[in-house]
Amino acid sequence: MSTGHDSEGQLDLFEGGAEHTWSYSRLKSLRRCPLEYKVRWLSDQHSLFEPGHIDVQAGRLLHHIIREYYRSPANAEPYQLLLKAYHKLAPHASEWKDDLQGENRALAALQLFAYSKAATLRAAALEVACKARISETSFVGQADLIYEIPGSPTAYGILEFKLNDVEVRVDDPAERFLQCLIYYAGLPAQFRSSTKAMGIYIFDTGMLLEAEIDRALLNKAFSIVETALQSANGPEFPARINPFCKSCGYQTLCPAYSSSLKRR
Ligand code: SF4
Repeated sequence: MSTGHDSEGQLDLFEGGAEHTWSYSRLKSLRRCPLEYKVRWLSDQHSLFEPGHIDVQAGRLLHHIIREYYRSPANAEPYQLLLKAYHKLAPHASEWKDDLQGENRALAALQLFAYSKAATLRAAALEVACKARISETSFVGQADLIYEIPGSPTAYGILEFKLNDVEVRVDDPAERFLQCLIYYAGLPAQFRSSTKAMGIYIFDTGMLLEAEIDRALLNKAFSIVETALQSANGPEFPARINPFCKSCGYQTLCPAYSSSLKRR
């Protein structure tokens, strides 16, 4: 599971910052706002786009707890198990210093998770390293969880955990599950042929989005990646207003953002 983080709750161990490899975060940045991508990845100003401390803290903590949860024996009561992990791993309450709701938020998320379908899944593997070659570009990352599909223990699904649902508010399933589809394309051989499904669990809402993996979705995902990569070398990097703008560190210099404020 991951340690890096952005404000949508997306976590990535592999930043993929080297020119020859890409991470899903980098692709996401390019697709949502080319100007952000240029400043963040081509000018190497990552610090401008660090998420709020509380999001980092909550995201990391929840991921660590969930990892403990899936490693524990399946017969324990889920919420008690999660609470135990919380008290073992959580920072002292005083360290939730920049948002007093941090602890409440984490505990509410754990309660939602405890009674969700995601909590009933059995782990086949955690933090699975994936490396996919798409459109002559290498993508690296870690799938949060490979789970056994209930009722068929030799068939697997990929599950990603996100703090909130900003990234999945799209109608097109290939866009919504783009990260899962890229990871699927890069799964190690022992999982690739038997992985049939994918899911995204949202901590803040307890929502579990699910879909089957098929060739058409995969081809659509490759086409999305290819189209994005074609714009990665410029020459144009237009600013594109999006839900991330409110936490973008480039706001004060971004012409599109100041114009959008004037229009309100
Ligand atoms: S404020 Fe919004 S539009 Fe401007 S660079 Fe940041 S993400 Fe892009």
